[in-house]
Amino acid sequence: FNYPLPANEPVLQYAPGSPEKIALKKALAAAKKKPIDVPMYIGSKTVKTGKKIAMRPPHEKAHILGYFNMGDEQHVKQAIDAALKAKESWANMPWEDRAHIFLKAADLLATKYRGAINACTMLGQSKNAYQAEIDSACELIDFLRFNVHFLSEIYRQQPVSAPGIHNRMEWRPLEGFVLAITPFNFTAIAGNLPTSAAMCGNVVVWKPANSQVYAAQMIMRILQEAGLPDGVINLIYVDGPKLGKICFTHPDFAGVHFTGSTGVFNSMWATIGKNMGTYKSYPRIVGETGGKDFVMIHKSADVDVAVTALARGAFEYQGQKCSAASRAYIPSNLAPAIKTKLIAALQTMNMGSVEDFTNFINAVIDEKSFDKIAAYIDEAKKDRKATIIAGGNYDKTIGYFIEPTVIEAKDPKYVTMCEEIFGPVLTIYVYDADAFEETMAVLDATSPYALTGCILAQDRDAVVLATAKLRNAAGNFYINDKPTGAVVGQQPFGGARASGTNDKAGSMINLYRWLSARTIKETF
Ligand code: GLU
Repeated sequence: FNYPLPANEPVLQYAPGSPEKIALKKALAAAKKKPIDVPMYIGSKTVKTGKKIAMRPPHEKAHILGYFNMGDEQHVKQAIDAALKAKESWANMPWEDRAHIFLKAADLLATKYRGAINACTMLGQSKNAYQAEIDSACELIDFLRFNVHFLSEIYRQQPVSAPGIHNRMEWRPLEGFVLAITPFNFTAIAGNLPTSAAMCGNVVVWKPANSQVYAAQMIMRILQEAGLPDGVINLIYVDGPKLGKICFTHPDFAGVHFTGSTGVFNSMWATIGKNMGTYKSYPRIVGETGGKDFVMIHKSADVDVAVTALARGAFEYQGQKCSAASRAYIPSNLAPAIKTKLIAALQTMNMGSVEDFTNFINAVIDEKSFDKIAAYIDEAKKDRKATIIAGGNYDKTIGYFIEPTVIEAKDPKYVTMCEEIFGPVLTIYVYDADAFEETMAVLDATSPYALTGCILAQDRDAVVLATAKLRNAAGNFYINDKPTGAVVGQQPFGGARASGTNDKAGSMINLYRWLSARTIKETF
């Protein structure tokens, strides 16, 4: 079975009166009509514990979208048992039958459920319609289709044979179960982490962030409708420590597919390391973690390109992308023009509910994030090493709203130039336009992260120099473009250093991690 390279799912435009806009409006209205009661999905069972947690739109705290049923250790155990029970028949299912389930899920997302999944992402995670469309529709559909293609390419790879010797490679799934832990900020990642491992014949225990359950349950139901057998992916809601306690001490723990914070990923490595010897195999540890993504501007840059890269790169989805631009190095010759135009651009960004499609900025995910981001802004207001040149106001009366904020730092090592904030805060540093190379050295040494970054320059030598000097500063490096918005199949995504294991999401590199090859030699 060879699935050819697919085309990227087209981004729909949601023009007034378009069928997609009508469907989305309907889905939003339906979602807001009555609260839902979301169970866990363990094997063939839907499990309700009665321990109900409310799901609320971050931009409208007073509204309740529904409740999910929180589990505990026993549910983690049940999910692992259900996964292991499903393992043999799933791993033995012909690849084309497995593939068709994910291709069908992609088609269901592209058509029947496009409005519904986008409505979940918009309301549950406070993403505007365009940001939801490129995430929960296009990127998720692309992950499913491209991974089927990449996996069929991997399966075709075979060793050479020789006279009297036949060699073959059996691309086995891992022995045991895979744990998928998914973040609030991308519905596409929520879909990709469990399905990429499952596609390879693995069985999965999936725990989404609490603030993502609303979209996660919709993905689960779509996978079931597409024909995913019971137990292949088990969706549970449980506190991290309880999850870790059971999964990381289980002999059949085969690996973890994670997107989230560097701190959590580090502590998982430590726990897994401590328990080494308990597991049948060395677990695969795959993670995408934090970022402190940069915009490096050369004195030859086009000012308008720079302003767009800053405004969109830093503030789309309120800066809550791991890839979001959060520190910029601006040359002194362009600084006045860039600052003036950036401040003007931010003034055109409306802020408010996702249901008003003219709002570019919506709410940040929850109170904890809001307080953390607000604390950085307050600190900058007091500190003489920093000046707030745009935004700086916030309000959590109705929802968790923070204005797009630009801090100008007088020191390239100022705290908001170094630490990940994960919110709508961009820090800029103006450097002497002739100190390009020295400034890049500072950039490279300032932060432990290395996820994304970009160089903006019209001078080709500057582009070449930056590409070389910043070789290890980003896993996704953009030339004359913003550092966000990687497209599956076009810009495989991931970074190294404190940003993760760089196993590029949506590529063969990632899929290899969920396979354990067996070499078979036969002589005759
Ligand atoms: N892939 C996304 C982008 O390129 C970011 C993913 C993330 O935030 O984890 O913008």
